[in-house]
Order: sequence, then C-alpha cells, then structure tokens
Amino acid sequence: MLIVQKFGGSSVANPERIKNVAKRVAKRSEKDQLVVVVSALGDTTDKLIELAHQITDLPSGREMDMLISTGEQISASLLSMALHGERKNAVSLCASQAQILTDSSYGKARIQEINTKRIEKELQKGNIVIVAGFQGVTEDEDVTTLGRGGSDLTAIALAAVLKAERCEIYTDVEGVFTADPRIVPSAKKLNSLIFDEMLEMASLGAGVMQTRAVEFAKKHGVCFEVRSSLTEAPGTIICKDKEVNDMEKLLVSGITTDPNEAKITVVGLSDQPGIAGKVFSALAEKDINVDMIIQSSAGEEKKNISFTVDKVDLRKALSVIETLRDQIEIGSVISDCDMAKVSVIGVGMMSQPGVAAKMFSCLADKGINIDMISTSEIKISCVIEKAKMEEAAVSLHSAFGLDK
Ligand code: ADP
Ligand code: ASP
Ligand code: MG
Repeated sequence: MLIVQKFGGSSVANPERIKNVAKRVAKRSEKDQLVVVVSALGDTTDKLIELAHQITDLPSGREMDMLISTGEQISASLLSMALHGERKNAVSLCASQAQILTDSSYGKARIQEINTKRIEKELQKGNIVIVAGFQGVTEDEDVTTLGRGGSDLTAIALAAVLKAERCEIYTDVEGVFTADPRIVPSAKKLNSLIFDEMLEMASLGAGVMQTRAVEFAKKHGVCFEVRSSLTEAPGTIICKDKEVNDMEKLLVSGITTDPNEAKITVVGLSDQPGIAGKVFSALAEKDINVDMIIQSSAGEEKKNISFTVDKVDLRKALSVIETLRDQIEIGSVISDCDMAKVSVIGVGMMSQPGVAAKMFSCLADKGINIDMISTSEIKISCVIEKAKMEEAAVSLHSAFGLDK
C-alpha cells in the first residue's frame, strides 16, 4: 500500500524527535511504501519571518518565500539522514525536485500541477521519499510557499495525485478535539468528522489543520486521519458524510475560538444604494478578507457599517477606508482589536432548532455580551470581548454536552 504521512513542526522539533519519527517511519516501511512530508523544526518559520523583519519592514514576497521555505528543506534532509541511520533507503526532495508546481502568488501560492514522475521513480528504487512540505516552485523556477500551515496541503495534494491508500497527518495532539485542548481542558477527541465540519472548524480557528488543505481534501475526496506522533492511539478520520456513521448523534461536534478578529465601524455613511459596494470592493481590491458585517441605521439618511477583518489586516483596512473619503461621505472610523470569535459547529444542528438560543443564553448566563453574530447551516459564530474568549469556550463546551 502507498501511504502519505505528514509530520508537523512539533513532531520534528529537535534531533531526538526526528530520530523518533525515523524509527516510526522505518517500522512502517516494512509493510508499506511511504511518501513522508515534513514541516520545519518547531517554530523555525516564525523565527525566519522575524529575521526578515530585522532587515526590512517590507520584504518582497519572492525573497520571503526563498527564506521561509528553507526550514522544510532542513527537516527533510535530517529525517532522510536519520532513516539512513535506521538502515533504510531514503531520499529527500525539495518542491522543485518533487515538481510541485504553483502559480507565483508568493506566501499563498496555489498548486497547479504535481508531476509525480520523480517521486514514483524513487519509490520504485525502494526509497522512502521525504518531501519538504509548504514549498512549491513556479514555471520560472522561483520558490513559493503555500500559506502558513501549508505542509498539510502538500501532504493532501500528494495523497491525491499519487492516489495513496491513506493520508496520515501526525501532530502533537491525538486527533481533532471538540475544542482546542489548550483552551478547554475537558475537550474530547472526535472519532470522525465530515469534510464540511472540519472545514468550518479549521476556518473558524481550530489550528490543527490548514483550511486550504481541508478544502483540497474535500474537492478531491482525500480521506485523511489526524493523529499523534507521540502515541499509538487511533486519531480522527475526516471523510465524506456517508463514511461517517456516528454523525447523527452529534448536535454540535465542536467549539472553536479565534482571537484574531478586529472590528471596524464606519460611522455616518449616506444611506444610498452602492455605498456598501464601494467600501467592500475597495477592501477586496487590496486582498483584505472581510468576515462578519452588520449594518445599522444612524438617524435620517445615514447608516453605520461594522465589519471584522483578521487583525493582521487592520492597519491596511483602515488606510483603505481613509482613501475612500474623496469618493463617499464618511463620518468617523472606529476600530477595536480586543475582539474574539467563538463558534459552535456541527452538522447535527441543521435539523435541530434551538442551537442559537442555547448558545446566546449560555453566553448571557456568564455575563458575556455578544457583539456580532453570523450563522450558516452548520455553525453559529459570535464576536465577543477577547478577555472572555476562554470562559465562553469552556461554558459552551459544557452547555452542549461535549464534556461528557
Ligand atoms: P503541527 O506542527 O503538527 O502542524 P499545529 O500546531 O499546527 O501542529 O496543530 C496542532 C495544535 O492545534 C494542537 O497543539 C492544538 O493546540 C491546536 N488545536 C486547535 N484546535 C484544535 C482542535 N479542535 N483539536 C485539536 N487540536 C487543536
Ligand atoms: N512551517 C510552515 C509554517 O509554520 C508550514 C507548516 O508548518 O505546515 O507555517
Ligand atoms: Mg499545522
């Protein structure tokens, strides 16, 4: 069987852990063919980004990718050496050797094609193939990266093109939990999730999987397992709905928290058609993703619009709004960085009324004020004060019976 395994940064954080991973991989290679994707050691990527900012405030995208892609090359070669130490044949490949071809949107490049010839050749030679995650290469041979957490995407994409039997994502927790176990200590491991639930959880802040990787898995039907590199416990299987048999039991399958929301309120816009369009088109043009939006009337012929963006985009968003002043009438602009989003997610809520009511009363009982709300068929999100985020997550976890 051909298996794709991915080991995240914490699993290869130091030489000892790399040797442990090598032992695990060596043992598995006795019965299966393996392609192993690795992330950079520990927090190497963060350190490299910091280093760049010690040189310049505005590094070019191309040079940034040239820099931050190096972390994965280090871990790939070290794991290969460790496997040689286990008397196994192994070869490490960077993205240009593995032919992971992307467009040139540095920092968030999209995979266009993977030419699997080289990987297949190495497998046929009897090698365990170690691929540096997170990297890609353009047709002009420039190095790109696939967005933070992008080694997950490398693994899922390789599993898809190689038609691997299994894709296993190894990390520092035993699977996907009902909430981030660092925030809600009573969180429980989920046996299975469908793609849409995992997608909502990832995009609403469950950092255990990269959102783009889950999108890719859903689009290409790549079933995968999230499990621990430190224990042998079975993990969480993420696949299509018909393959998950215990889903009907779950009303809510998870709670997520996202401390990275910033809110902007534009006060005193004129209440006419086309105004909101102008504001949000200007933000979109600058690649700023807007999350929640609320519009309220502000007296005669005036309205206010509040919306949230990722905190890293706050300064950029505020300057975009300022540039609109010569096109439309704007009163004041207020921003707030101390916000967080807490969400409840589950396919079970589609057929069950009362989930929103239960969520709002739970937060009210704790004296937590809800600032903004957004819903979809399988999730409800509330923006609240950041200082109350953990308390909100713990209370909701218990209110929806997830502690049991
Ligand atoms: P890796 O380095 O292996 O990619 P990450 O740090 O990206 O690991 O992801 C694992 C972390 O995700 C866990 O340590 C955990 O704190 C966090 N996490 C957030 N939400 C969840 C969740 N619902 N279930 C499991 N882990 C979660
Ligand atoms: N090392 C990269 C990051 O920290 C990619 C990954 O870990 O998946 O974002
Ligand atoms: Mg990760």
